[in-house]
Amino acid sequence: MRTNGPELGAELLVDFLNTLDVEDDVDQLADDDGHARWAHEHNLEPGDRIAAVQARDALREIVDGIPAELPELALPVTAVPGSVALGARTAADAAVASAVVLSLQGKLGRVKLCGGEDCRWAFYDASRNGSRQWCSMEVCGNRQKARTYRAKERPAS
Ligand SMILES: [Zn+2]
Repeated sequence: MRTNGPELGAELLVDFLNTLDVEDDVDQLADDDGHARWAHEHNLEPGDRIAAVQARDALREIVDGIPAELPELALPVTAVPGSVALGARTAADAAVASAVVLSLQGKLGRVKLCGGEDCRWAFYDASRNGSRQWCSMEVCGNRQKARTYRAKERPAS
């Protein structure tokens, strides 16, 4: 059975984490309009913006290996024969529900923040051994390689 509800998965979570763009210093949840726009684009209700920001910031830390507390959220459970689901309706609920689903699947560790200090873009690591560190090897991976290279060269020069 298909529902019209939001797709609760890695894509939604990654998108939610990326409402904060560190590199360009843009926070889509910084005002009500941006928050509402993001929610509607994802077939969700905006809900409380502050709770969304808190959930986003906590989830970014959690996927980055830093302990963080999630805000209190109401995640109703819906059930039909053969299926029990988290009935997330708001942006924050849906993002947390996605994290729960991925966690149960043992996949939350594959949601990562880019290792580039100025980047920190969230991505889902679909590589076979789950060892990806960069949002993009071409951009941040090479940037980091160049940095490491310069750091090694500096004492000598
Ligand atoms: Zn990056």
